[in-house]
Amino acid sequence: MTAARDVPLGTDLPEGARFIGREADFVSGWRVDLDAPTDADLNTCVACGLCLPHCPTYRLTGEESASPRGRIAAMRAVSDGTAVVDDTFRSFMDLCLVCRACEDVCPSHVRFGRMMERARTQVEPLRSRRARIARWLGLDVVLPRPWLVRTAAAFQPIARPFLPRRMRAILPRRAAPFRRLPAVTEPPAGVAVRGTVALLSGCVQDSWFHEVNQATLRVLARNGWRVTVPRAQRCCGALAAHNGRLRVARRLARSNARVFAQADAVIVNAAGCGAHMQSYTDLDETARLPVRDLMGFLHDEGLVAEPGPLPTTRVAYHDACHALRAQGIRGQPRAVLGRIPGIELVEIPGGDRCCGAAGLYNVTEPEMSGRLMRAKAEAVASTRVNVVASANPGCSMQLVAGLRALGQNAEGIEVVHPVELLDRAYGVPALR
Ligand code: SF4
Ligand code: SF4
Repeated sequence: MTAARDVPLGTDLPEGARFIGREADFVSGWRVDLDAPTDADLNTCVACGLCLPHCPTYRLTGEESASPRGRIAAMRAVSDGTAVVDDTFRSFMDLCLVCRACEDVCPSHVRFGRMMERARTQVEPLRSRRARIARWLGLDVVLPRPWLVRTAAAFQPIARPFLPRRMRAILPRRAAPFRRLPAVTEPPAGVAVRGTVALLSGCVQDSWFHEVNQATLRVLARNGWRVTVPRAQRCCGALAAHNGRLRVARRLARSNARVFAQADAVIVNAAGCGAHMQSYTDLDETARLPVRDLMGFLHDEGLVAEPGPLPTTRVAYHDACHALRAQGIRGQPRAVLGRIPGIELVEIPGGDRCCGAAGLYNVTEPEMSGRLMRAKAEAVASTRVNVVASANPGCSMQLVAGLRALGQNAEGIEVVHPVELLDRAYGVPALR
């Protein structure tokens, strides 16, 4: 044996033996001009399988290829040059919800969401021309331009009959494309200012759930926060990133990082947007923002105003995957809602399971999304609540559609953002 390791590792191996690994002449199957999962990320998976029972698509199919471990194995095969990015690979990637339940439970801290976004960038060129045009129009052209989002919301009643059936079932009928939030909201007279925060108004959130943004301003102000709504802000880019448009997502991340650069805290009331903005540095190292989930912020900073009583209401809090799994928000919203006299909080059976909304998933994978939606709606209906509190617009739309499809009593269950319940409990007059 050589005493000191001054020779390359493996020099002492018996003749014919070799390390198992890539051949020296391997060629990766990734396209080099597009983002791709890194070997460092792929290698964090030790294939232990602990994530499998937590993966919604694996639970429903029992297929390894529909599990986190199987998807990572497929990515690794492409990376090793033993497989190519083809339609089979695309179908494995497309069926993933990017719910990040696997990330949450993984003992190796696999960055699955980041890998999936990059793998999807690689499969984009395989899509049909029609699908690519539709994605380009929606994700590259409309969403990054707030005025186009508002125009789309304004024309929704006319366009509605021409939308895909699943989209029609999900999209709220009413939108508020012409209502603008005030640029600055001050705490009411008599409430000491604790600080200034900036609000991400969001694109879907501001046009279709404008009242949630208004409630957010009122509740933050009532608790001593001056709230600014920067006019130059743009879509957070989550939908673009989840659907393999990382170039657009990177542009939006850089733009918002400039717009919110001076903010002490960027408050986000939509779980998907908040989770994505917290990982802006995956797209650009310099795009670091102090992003805070609204309900987490209200809980952690404390309420200075005690909520008044509401009529006795049974409320189920719905855990959005991108709050629970990606941001670790679980107890905070429940604790805040628990401060409202009259509210009886009820847990949804299997409440940590994805509702199947997942951005555009309910349009791109309607069959799997529909199964998850029905299971979630049945679980909610079984609780016999009056209200479901959901802090993500995609989940809220999915819950409304799921409960409506169940019919009977489920249809009457109101779906609101938790901050709207707090707003009602404060009884603050409407913003002008
Ligand atoms: S992703 Fe994590 S939990 Fe799942 S198989 Fe790999 S190492 Fe195990
Ligand atoms: S992100 Fe969700 S659907 Fe995708 S592999 Fe992980 S647990 Fe499964």
